[in-house]
Amino acid sequence: MDTDVTCPICSTPSMTPGEIVGRSPGVKFKEHGGGLLGDLTGVPITTGVFNHSAPALRCGSCGTVVVPPARG
Ligand SMILES: [Zn+2]
Repeated sequence: MDTDVTCPICSTPSMTPGEIVGRSPGVKFKEHGGGLLGDLTGVPITTGVFNHSAPALRCGSCGTVVVPPARG
């Protein structure tokens, strides 16, 4: 997997490809202040039924993890 993504935090030009993994019902991104609905709200990050994962890039310099939008 070729990456030419620059870290949005520290501008390091090389980010390490990998993936975020989680368990059912998956991992979501949720904005702060979104209420008390727990994980009923939020944007799903991982896909899959049993093995939840999402491609991600991690900055080796500052540790920022970027999740690119799913393609296809
Ligand atoms: Zn960084």
